Amino acid sequence: MAAERLRITEIFHSIQGEADAIGWRTVFVRLTGCPLRCTWCDTTYSFYGGEWRAIDEILAEVASHGARHVCVTGGEPLAQKRCLILLQRLCDAGYEVSLETSGALDVSTVDPRVRKVVDLKAPDSGESARNLWSNLDHLLPHDQIKIVIASRADYEWARDVVAEHAIEQRCMVLFSPVWGNVEPRELAEWIIDDKLPVRFQLQLHKLLWNDAKGK
Ligand code: SF4
Repeated sequence: MAAERLRITEIFHSIQGEADAIGWRTVFVRLTGCPLRCTWCDTTYSFYGGEWRAIDEILAEVASHGARHVCVTGGEPLAQKRCLILLQRLCDAGYEVSLETSGALDVSTVDPRVRKVVDLKAPDSGESARNLWSNLDHLLPHDQIKIVIASRADYEWARDVVAEHAIEQRCMVLFSPVWGNVEPRELAEWIIDDKLPVRFQLQLHKLLWNDAKGK
């Protein structure tokens, strides 16, 4: 049975705070561990610890919340190979499934029913060398690229990368400010001034619950 277990930091029921499923009641399954160390990471508590849980048990807990949307997140969920099985099982069970991933690991084997929210790490994250650019070739129209922006320099990097790879023609592109580093209004105005084909977003859960764990 060990082959069907995953290390889990938390499973909780909340409101999706970002990406295209924003606002939906959602069950979050947070897998433990991440090989990256983004400077502005807000889930460092997921790096270590956690609890081994059988996939059947995870599915039962998800079902107990009665939500249509499930978000598999981390940490970096794809760092545990059996995450792919969990994603497939959740899709088979009929949920609307999204996956939040760092963009540093291969997404080509993720079930195509899953909406992938793939980060591109801008320079101020300290992890932009980890961007796996081949992931752009595995995006489906329902997926999203998310770039978290901590400075004007990050913004210009993101703007140029989107243009260079015509990412908006592959899927939705999300620009999100780092809480406390970039004024949301400033980022919104940069996007307007440059007439960018991207979607501005604020993390709703931070507005609602001030980033409390398990929300
Ligand atoms: S990839 Fe995500 S979980 Fe990992 S360090 Fe960066 S922000 Fe944190």
